[in-house]
Amino acid sequence: MLKLYNTLTRGQDTFEPLEPGVVKLYTCGPTVYDVAHLGNFRAYIFEDILRRTLEYKGYRVLQVMNLTDVDDKTIRGANAAGISLDTFTQPFKDAFFEDLKTLRIEPAEHYPAATAHIPEMITLIERLIALKHAYIADDGSVYFNIASYPDYGRLARLDLSSLQSGARVAHDEYAKDHAADFALWKAWDTDDGAVAWDSPWGRGRPGWHIECSAMCMRYLGETFDIHTGGIDNIFPHHEDEIAQSEAATGKPLARYWLHCAHLIIDGQKMSKSLGNFHSLRDVIGMGFRGREVRYLLASAHYRQTLNFTFDGLRAVRTALDRVDTCRHRLQQVAGETTASTTTEIPQWAHVMNTQFDRAICDDLNTAAAYGVLFETIHESNRLIDGDRMTKREAAAVLTMFDHWDHVLAIMQPDQDSAAADTAADPVVTDLLEKRQAARQIKDFKESDRLRDLLRDKGWVVRDTHNGQELRKSS
Ligand SMILES: [Zn+2]
Repeated sequence: MLKLYNTLTRGQDTFEPLEPGVVKLYTCGPTVYDVAHLGNFRAYIFEDILRRTLEYKGYRVLQVMNLTDVDDKTIRGANAAGISLDTFTQPFKDAFFEDLKTLRIEPAEHYPAATAHIPEMITLIERLIALKHAYIADDGSVYFNIASYPDYGRLARLDLSSLQSGARVAHDEYAKDHAADFALWKAWDTDDGAVAWDSPWGRGRPGWHIECSAMCMRYLGETFDIHTGGIDNIFPHHEDEIAQSEAATGKPLARYWLHCAHLIIDGQKMSKSLGNFHSLRDVIGMGFRGREVRYLLASAHYRQTLNFTFDGLRAVRTALDRVDTCRHRLQQVAGETTASTTTEIPQWAHVMNTQFDRAICDDLNTAAAYGVLFETIHESNRLIDGDRMTKREAAAVLTMFDHWDHVLAIMQPDQDSAAADTAADPVVTDLLEKRQAARQIKDFKESDRLRDLLRDKGWVVRDTHNGQELRKSS
């Protein structure tokens, strides 16, 4: 039985899909105005663990992840760079798909881009106007009337008693105490530059929230199983998505709403606006591996904040060495013997298998699942040391690990990257980390000094738009 914490009910609910055997899952995807940072990837890895757990439980998953390629941030970026919106967002879309591969995130079935679904958004807005849940403002923008929808605020548990009737907010992001009628369609203004589409209300562009409503219903239907995102998405994004969709259809949009907690760095949320973020590329450039980053980002339960440190990342390498060594030893004992199922596992390992299943079905408790993994490794090593593990048992334990790894995806070694040895050297990674910080505040003198120090240690660092790249000097 799979239990998932549902933000809608504020409790653990037993998961059951609408249609037996199939799970329809919508995950809010990246806003492609920059490369995603590790805080973003924590949420995508949580969603990947969710998807993989559903598959491990025997479900077929139909997952949709949108790409937000038109919103306040992408338009600002394109106009600042003096290029078209498509030209601006394309490299970030490409980078995102590369990063997903590096982190072993299984591809979704659909990655709809907002700019390719404007007609669906217009149709949905027309429906809301017809039902009097939306109205056209003087400038040709269209707003959702939150007073028309009594359930507004249910997901975020808002107190709407002090709400000013008719107050409006045009921005995509705003705080809870600024809850107001929000923009479904924004009439063109000079800040939009060349970004505009024709609509029954004049030229303009969609608000961020309507994008997800239109795209999730287009691919998954008016009611589907699970909708996920980061806790930042609860308000206003998901609250507004629910209001728009349910007011239009009269049906619940999603039955389970799951949200991932923040990634913290030095006690603060990792975010672009705070300037304390690391992209995956920065970290890979320092010599860490995708598998190590994945392991670290899944090491705490997804609803707990996770503190990112480079020491933590270095400790992962030691942990994964233990995994690799144990698997290698089991392979040596098993020899040519293989096991297609785990039915021949010894009693002690059967207990571990049950514990793993219990951990992962307990709202995706990856921290507990890692604990079970290391207990199994410990016991396997002890039995092999005492020459008490048979070929068949070793083969069965390896098959059990493969079964677990369908969820965790951390056991297969990475293809070695050229700079992968650097991560073992805290001095080198420390210099790279300081240099990145210097570059973020544009202290190029300090950044050059650190580059020279790295050169003295035998490393050449190159700055690319993917971050720092390191190679051994010849
Ligand atoms: Zn969304």
